[in-house]
Amino acid sequence: MAIQRTFSIIKPDATKRNLTGKIISKFEDAGLRVIASRRIQMTREQAEGFYAVHKERPFFGELVDFMISGPVVIQVLEGEDAIAKNREVMGATNPENADAGTIRKEFALSVGENSVHGSDAPETAAEEIKFFFKDEEIVG
Ligand code: GDP
Repeated sequence: MAIQRTFSIIKPDATKRNLTGKIISKFEDAGLRVIASRRIQMTREQAEGFYAVHKERPFFGELVDFMISGPVVIQVLEGEDAIAKNREVMGATNPENADAGTIRKEFALSVGENSVHGSDAPETAAEEIKFFFKDEEIVG
C-alpha cells in the first residue's frame, strides 16, 4: 500500500473534554503522522459546506449545530494506507458498534457527538484537505 494523506477533525465534544492529546496519541501509535494542524472555531458556513453531502439527511441541522458548538482541531494525517488506517483507529460511527481500543469506543458520547471525523476515500480526502489547508501549511 502507498503512503496516503487523509483529513481529520477532532470534534467539539472531544476538545471540550480536553482529549486532543489522547486522540492524537492514538493516531501516532497507529503510525500516522500529523503533517498539518490548526485549532479553529468553524463558522456555520464552513460546517454546512464541509458536510454538504449530508444536506438531505434528517440529522444535518443537528450535525452543523454540533460542529460549531466549540473549537475543533483540523489535521492532515500521513502514513501507509492512511485513509483506511485512520478509519480503523476511529472506529464505527456509532460508538456502541465500535471495536475496543478505538477512539470512538473510548471517547465518543453518541452517534452524533463521536469525537472525530476522517475522510472515507482518496477523492474526499483530497477535497477535504483542500477545503481547510493551503499547500504551504502542509509540511510532511
Ligand atoms: P462517519 O464517516 O463515520 O463520520 O459517518 P457518516 O458520514 O455516516 O456521518 C457523518 C457524521 O454525521 C457522523 O460522524 C456523526 O457526527 C453525524 N451523524 C451520523 N448519523 C447521525 C445521527 O443519526 N444523528 C446525529 N445527530 N448525527 C449523526
